[in-house]
Amino acid sequence: MAKILVVEDEEAIRSFIKINLKRHNFEIIEAASGEEALEKIDDTVDVALLDVMLPGIDGFEVCKTIRQQYSGMGIIMLTAKGQEQNKIEGLELGADDYMVKPFSPKELMARINALLRRISVVQERKEENDKHITSGIFTIMQDERKLLKKGVEIELTPIEFALVKYFMENANKAIHRDEILNNVWGYNYVGDFKIVDVNIRRIRQKIEDDPSNPRYIEKVWGYGYRWWGGED
Ligand code: CA
Repeated sequence: MAKILVVEDEEAIRSFIKINLKRHNFEIIEAASGEEALEKIDDTVDVALLDVMLPGIDGFEVCKTIRQQYSGMGIIMLTAKGQEQNKIEGLELGADDYMVKPFSPKELMARINALLRRISVVQERKEENDKHITSGIFTIMQDERKLLKKGVEIELTPIEFALVKYFMENANKAIHRDEILNNVWGYNYVGDFKIVDVNIRRIRQKIEDDPSNPRYIEKVWGYGYRWWGGED
């Protein structure tokens, strides 16, 4: 069963999350502070739920540290209503998703399950033998969840990997941001395109020769994006 790390200093919210996750048979690790989270975390955790505002080190700091140590772990930030900037900052630091408080048990399960599906798709692929996808100078090695650019590995988060894979499978086609949301995040975000844009900005910083002048992921204005394999 999936293991979830819940990092939240407000006890009422923490137990709300815990009760709902336990009802669905998840294994839970709780932490009331960022420090406690970093002490308790290990590579058996599948998804970390991170509150932004914490006493001591904040959720962003925890997110950054987790991402550096566990590139394959799912991270969902919990942000307060009206803190739009927090969502973007969390995504830029490597979070896969965010939820705005207060959220319903239904939304909590939908977000976690969508992310777990993404992670387990990645893990299942790991078990298939040597399945590679190539597009121009890029290759995806599905068995090892690796992206190579001219043979050099580029480290990606689970969502970034899913996004690049989706692009490579649909190379040279303009893809609407709605389609990207549905295919990569797995359900409809009701037009919340920022999550797509921020992830693409992050990927560009990793794969482009000049991220301010991107050539592998092209923006299609008012529509979405197009992946070019980078053939010269
Ligand atoms: Ca808090």
